[in-house]
Amino acid sequence: MNLPEKMKAVVLMGPDHLEVKEVTVPKPGPIDVLIKVESCALCGTDSSLIHSPLPGQPPYGEHIIGHEYAGTVAALGETVDEFEIGDRVTVEAHNGCGRCRNCRLGNYTACLNYGNQKKGHRANGFTTPGGNAQYVINHINTVHKIADHVSMDEASLATNLGCVLYGFETVGGFIAGQTVVVFGPGPLGLSAVQAARAMGAGKVILMGTRDSRLKIAENLGADLIVNVKENDPYEVIMDETNGLGCDYAIESSGSEAALGASIKATKRMGKILLLGFPHVPFPADFEELALNNKHIYTVRGEGWANVGRAVSFLDRGLVDLKPMITHTFPINEIDTAFETFNKRIDGAIKVISKPQE
Ligand SMILES: [Zn+2]
Ligand SMILES: [Zn+2]
Repeated sequence: MNLPEKMKAVVLMGPDHLEVKEVTVPKPGPIDVLIKVESCALCGTDSSLIHSPLPGQPPYGEHIIGHEYAGTVAALGETVDEFEIGDRVTVEAHNGCGRCRNCRLGNYTACLNYGNQKKGHRANGFTTPGGNAQYVINHINTVHKIADHVSMDEASLATNLGCVLYGFETVGGFIAGQTVVVFGPGPLGLSAVQAARAMGAGKVILMGTRDSRLKIAENLGADLIVNVKENDPYEVIMDETNGLGCDYAIESSGSEAALGASIKATKRMGKILLLGFPHVPFPADFEELALNNKHIYTVRGEGWANVGRAVSFLDRGLVDLKPMITHTFPINEIDTAFETFNKRIDGAIKVISKPQE
């Protein structure tokens, strides 16, 4: 493949200030591949680091954003025989250092050397160059081949689904026959509904406040869709579970009310998974948790190789992430893309940047 010297990349120049710049196409190290990016999905985490930097973020003027992307392999590092040029691939953001205790135990998204590139840690789009660019370097541990029938746009959402599957694995994994309540019909919540259904959950209930988003969920496998402005979530869950409460509450809305309802409406020994969370300290009912042996779990990122599982879900058609893709923009229109995403213009859910267009 003939590679250009220069490429376009979305660079963070200052708070709330992006520019599409011409930069040098990077060269893969021995265990890396160079990916020609076709689709890069915008994420709420992008919006927050554009507004104020996250720990370990490169300086303004140097940081290329974007961590949810898919494309084709364009060059191979000298030791790489796992991939071939032209392979269609998607990625996961985190590559652990491989030498800390957490990484050695497989918990690489919770790497103890987070942000320390000298020790081998990378988080593309967070601490190392991301994929909202025409080319990007990925360590091969973070790259997954995708099936020909899976579109690049859909494949760019594999990380989202990987986070959800990591969450399900963290809470115990085996959810067949159980009642799963998902709060928040955003990208993670809608992925969680579909994954729960695909894994054989007994009943999947989706709670939200926006009818437009709840409507999208109608064809995605929820058994019951509830607008919490019209119905009390606790009462609905009790009605649907013969007064016992749900087995799993998946909180992906980030609202205090939803977290409160998750704690209250989970059954004894039930599990609460935080995919979203309130950004300020929030009083929670620990007595309710402790007296009923309920558990709260958090997940950071798309750990335990769950993007690989997400790719398998996509390959086999067990989930359909396409209904969440509402907008695509060429890379030069990145400001419009983020405005559409942040303000949810025209019902925007997932907005995709197209670096080659
Ligand atoms: Zn993301
Ligand atoms: Zn580590």
